[in-house]
Amino acid sequence: MKLNEKGLLVVLSGPSGVGKSTVCKALFEKKSHKLVYSISMTTRKPREGEVDGVDYFFVSKETFLKYIEEDLLLEWAEFVGHYYGTPKKYVEEQLALGSEVVLEIEVSGALQVRSKMPEAVFIFIVPPKKQALYNRLLERGTEPEKKIQERIDKADREFLLAHKYDYIVVNDNIDKAAERIISIIIAEHSKTERTIYKYMKMLGEE
Ligand code: 5GP
Repeated sequence: MKLNEKGLLVVLSGPSGVGKSTVCKALFEKKSHKLVYSISMTTRKPREGEVDGVDYFFVSKETFLKYIEEDLLLEWAEFVGHYYGTPKKYVEEQLALGSEVVLEIEVSGALQVRSKMPEAVFIFIVPPKKQALYNRLLERGTEPEKKIQERIDKADREFLLAHKYDYIVVNDNIDKAAERIISIIIAEHSKTERTIYKYMKMLGEE
């Protein structure tokens, strides 16, 4: 196991419509913990109120493909007709500085990160009931029916991948879900494989 004394990479994932981005926002409102958000890149058009460089880096398909070709993405996925990916450089820089870096990404991207950076913490967010997720997708109203159905079908397949994660957090209440994630982050810092190196060093010094 690679010792990662410095930063901590926290991967939040889960089926589409589970409220990942809402939970993630609530997480960043918790001032008790200084987290860093990794802004993803996407070829999807901005929704009303979304800001380039804040919510996403909105780019053309050509730019995105260039990033893939030049191996500048930590992970990427095609999701209902659009590309989404995590720029690698920022994550690496922040981890080297010792930051706690949060990725909020869909399931196939999370599994790519798992194979590249197994020392990261993988959290799967689930709804309290399946129907709650369907309702969220139907109520979103920003997309045509066909796209919504695609997201529902995808969510159904993604439910089955929870066992690949370190933690499962139920989003029954946004604030509580965010609190649970903070608790996980705190606990991760005390994990033996993260702390034993420092501990052994301390023993050797005395
Ligand atoms: P939306 O279009 O609703 O903003 O996002 C659609 C899906 O893409 C969500 O499940 C979101 O978590 C995921 N997503 C956002 N950024 C990334 C990314 O950088 N990589 C991957 N793999 N998925 C992402």
